[in-house]
Amino acid sequence: MLIDKIKTLASEIHEDVVAKRRHLHANPELSFHEYETSKYVKEQLSALNIPFTEIANTGVLGIIKGELPSDKVIALRADMDALPILEANDVSYKSTNPGVMHACGHDVHTSSLLGTAAILNKLKSEFGGTIKLMFQPAEEVLPGGASLMIKEGALENPKPEAVLGQHVMPLIEAGKVGIRAGKYMASSDELYITIKGKGGHGAQPHENIDPVLIMAHTLTALQQIVSRNADPRIPSVLSFGKVIADGATNVIPNEVIIHGTFRTLDEEWRRSAHIKMKKMAESIAEGMGGSCDFKIVNGYPFLVNEEKLTAQVRQNLINYLGEENVIDLDIWMAAEDFAYYSQVSNASFYRLGTGNKERGITSSVHTPTFDIDESSLKISTGLMAYSAIKQLGF
Ligand SMILES: [Zn+2]
Ligand SMILES: [Zn+2]
Repeated sequence: MLIDKIKTLASEIHEDVVAKRRHLHANPELSFHEYETSKYVKEQLSALNIPFTEIANTGVLGIIKGELPSDKVIALRADMDALPILEANDVSYKSTNPGVMHACGHDVHTSSLLGTAAILNKLKSEFGGTIKLMFQPAEEVLPGGASLMIKEGALENPKPEAVLGQHVMPLIEAGKVGIRAGKYMASSDELYITIKGKGGHGAQPHENIDPVLIMAHTLTALQQIVSRNADPRIPSVLSFGKVIADGATNVIPNEVIIHGTFRTLDEEWRRSAHIKMKKMAESIAEGMGGSCDFKIVNGYPFLVNEEKLTAQVRQNLINYLGEENVIDLDIWMAAEDFAYYSQVSNASFYRLGTGNKERGITSSVHTPTFDIDESSLKISTGLMAYSAIKQLGF
C-alpha cells in the first residue's frame, strides 16, 4: 500500500529531517535575506538529483516528475524566513544569529518539504505528473515572498491545479493536524494615522487645537466601522496598538500618531472599510479644527481554502492519520502570504500540530520560547508526500 510505503520512508528519513531542521533553526535569516538557507536548500536538492531553478531572489523552485503517464501538476509550498526575535530557548540547536530566530516554524516547513522531496523522489515509479517544490522567501514581511513567486511565474509553465501548504500550530498536539474549508485567514492592512492640531500651553486650550482630544474621538468613532458598518456575518477586526502624544501634563502637542491594523475576510468590504475609516477620521479632525493624514498599507489578502480541494485534502489527512487526529479549525484572524496563492489558484493550507503539553512545548509562534515537538516532522514529510500523490490522482 502506498500509505505504508510513505510511512516507512518518513520513518527512515526522520532523523535526517530533524538534523536539517536543527541546522536551519541554528542558522536563521531574516525575510528577503535567506541567502545561506537558499544555498542549503539547493545543496540538498542537488544531493537528491532534483532539478531546480532560482526565483524571487532567494527562492528555489524544484521539480519532481513521476514516471507514470499524467500531465497533472501540483505545487507544494514552504517558507524559509525567520523573525527579528532573540531566542530564549536553551537548546543545542539554539540560534547562532543573535536577535534572529525561527520563531514561526519556517525551519520546520523548509526541512519538511526537503523530507517530502526525498520521499517523492523515491516513489517516482508510483505516480505520474509534476510536483513543484516551492521554497519561498519572506513570508513575514510585505509585500510577501509569495507575491514575488507568483509574479516571477512559479505558478506558470506548467500551471499547477492546486497549491498545498502547511504551517506549524503549537495549539494542536503533535500527532494531529487541523484544516478548514473555505475562508480561513484574514486580510491584514496597516493603518498609519497622524492627527495634526496646534500645540501650546495646557492652561490655554482656547488658543490651541488639541490633537489628543481629536485622537480620543477618532479612536472611539472608528470602532463604529466594525460595530455599525460591517456586515455582522463578515468577521472584522480593528485594533490600535500604538498611540503617541508626546506632550506633557501642561503641554498640548502639535500632533498625535496612531498605528493600527484592520483585518477582514471579504475584499469588497475591505475596500469600502478603507474609504469609510479615512472619511470618518478626516471629518472628525476637520470638525474639531485639526487635520488628519490617514495612510493605509495594504497587507496580504484573505486566505481561502478551496472547498472541493480541501475536502479531498481533509480526506487524505484522515486516511493518513485517522479521523481522531484531524481537527476542524475555526477562522483565524492572523494573516499569511499563502493567501496570494489561494487568490489565483485552487489552494489548501493545513496546520501541523507541533505542541506537547506534557513536555511543556506550548509557546505560541512569534515568541522567544517557541519550539516544537520534533516527532511532528515524521508526519509533516509523509503527509505532504501522500497528499501530493493523491491529488495527482494516484
Ligand atoms: Zn509568522
Ligand atoms: Zn509563519
